[in-house]
Amino acid sequence: MSKILVFAEFQNNKLKRSSQELLQFAAKQGSPVVALALGSQSAAGKDSLAHNGAQEIIFSGSTDFDQYNPEFFSSIVSEQIEKSEATIILASASSLAKDLFPRVAAKITAGIVSDGTELTISGGIAQVKKPLYSGKCFAQAQFENCKYQIVLMRANQMIVGPADTSKTATATEITFTKPSLKTLIKQIVKGTSEKLDLTEANIIISGGRGLKDAEQFKLIQPLADVLGATVGATRAVVDAGWVPHSMQVGQTGKTVAPTLYIAVGISGAIQHIAGMSGAKVIVAINSDANAPIFQKATYGIVGDAFEILPLLTEEFKKVLQH
Ligand SMILES: Cc1cc2nc3c(=O)[nH]c(=O)nc-3n(C[C@H](O)[C@H](O)[C@H](O)COP(=O)(O)OP(=O)(O)OC[C@H]3O[C@@H](n4cnc5c(N)ncnc54)[C@H](O)[C@@H]3O)c2cc1C
Repeated sequence: MSKILVFAEFQNNKLKRSSQELLQFAAKQGSPVVALALGSQSAAGKDSLAHNGAQEIIFSGSTDFDQYNPEFFSSIVSEQIEKSEATIILASASSLAKDLFPRVAAKITAGIVSDGTELTISGGIAQVKKPLYSGKCFAQAQFENCKYQIVLMRANQMIVGPADTSKTATATEITFTKPSLKTLIKQIVKGTSEKLDLTEANIIISGGRGLKDAEQFKLIQPLADVLGATVGATRAVVDAGWVPHSMQVGQTGKTVAPTLYIAVGISGAIQHIAGMSGAKVIVAINSDANAPIFQKATYGIVGDAFEILPLLTEEFKKVLQH
């Protein structure tokens, strides 16, 4: 039976939820599951790979992997995939994986589908549903004549159950010689937020130009704190300099797929919708009943965000504190 290899990523010393999703999904397929994890966090977090379904772990705790370098990563990951004998390779559609895996696919002559929102594996063949044209339609992709099938799945598309701490796995540390590199990454500037990255978040509250200015934009923070949500924004807000680009949701920002997306003072331009239409439940708060966002929203509140935000915050506080 062909093996499934999951490329696992860690953040703040924890296995990312998106990697948990993939490991638990792979474990349900009845095939042997291999986890590949790179960097010092992977050495410390090896057990969590086993607890989520990996039977075999290939890892390197080397700090050489703590800073992403496309050339270096693609050479090691390609080599490890070939050695592992896995034919289906799963990774989350993170920025790192979306940069890395097309290079890996070229090196090992693999088929690749990214931004998957549904995945089934039958008879060793992966079938992937993915959005096209900014979510206006969906394609069903199937691999043909490929030895290797690489699938990059969007986060929050699969169910995550509790990890089983009684599970163990065999772990092998990678030995490697660092290849001579043509490129050098000098610095990666990381966001300072303690909150989950937008692409991983289960609840997102995004604010738009309707919040008027940078100071009043902060009024969404109390509601985000009560709900444990990550804050996002529209491009209008980013362009105005109220928040950094790392918070932008949309065609030229991040693609998100939370369970709950609350859009506050956002008109619902097609470029914004492109980044958040994968949310399961969308709540829109807008003073204009004809705003296009209401066509996408599961629930709509027509009214002034400055009146509604404090009311919602208080109500959620009451409900969640009981
Ligand atoms: C190539 C390209 C790429 C782009 N990429 C992106 C992208 O990635 N992400 C993105 O977001 N945009 C993107 N845009 C911009 C996009 O077209 C819109 O301009 C932008 O999304 C509008 O942001 P907004 O909804 O915050 O502002 P507006 O469109 O100005 O909407 C503000 C809304 O707030 C409402 N409002 C006003 N006052 C209140 C109040 N007191 N209470 C409640 N509601 C209120 C108004 O009714 C209005 O609907 C892109 C554009 C282009 C051309």
